[in-house]
Amino acid sequence: MGLLNLASGASLWRGYGYYQEKRVISLQKNSDTEIEGMVSGSGGARYEVFLNLEHPRKSHCNCPHANGRRIICKHMVALYFSVFPKEAEAYYQDILDYEKEMEQQQEEWEQAVISRISHMRKEELKEALLDVLFNGPEWQYDRFIRDYVDTYDD
Ligand SMILES: [Zn+2]
Repeated sequence: MGLLNLASGASLWRGYGYYQEKRVISLQKNSDTEIEGMVSGSGGARYEVFLNLEHPRKSHCNCPHANGRRIICKHMVALYFSVFPKEAEAYYQDILDYEKEMEQQQEEWEQAVISRISHMRKEELKEALLDVLFNGPEWQYDRFIRDYVDTYDD
């Protein structure tokens, strides 16, 4: 499995940010599969990062998060993206595509909800609203009372 596949979503995203901010200070290819580099962390710290592309779990970084643990940290991801900028582009494009997809999905749902509501009979609407109010989150119920129910508070 590739290094990126072993990284958490958070490490990928933060690592991509570090790559974009050009926090990779130095980079050296020791062989086709071994890369070492220095990555600037938060608060002026600098971390030594070593990537093993053949055995990604053998990669290491001396940051507090990854030191002595077999995990892929954001510094490793940043270094990786510096070596393979095309993969960084592909990663970012995937995120844009996904966001666009989600947006379209939301719009479709919104249209479907509006259409459904406009075709509901009054009794159905009443039942649906009560269900949403009594079984939904409390803030929603409170908001309904505030906006639509006369109270003696004001
Ligand atoms: Zn690290």
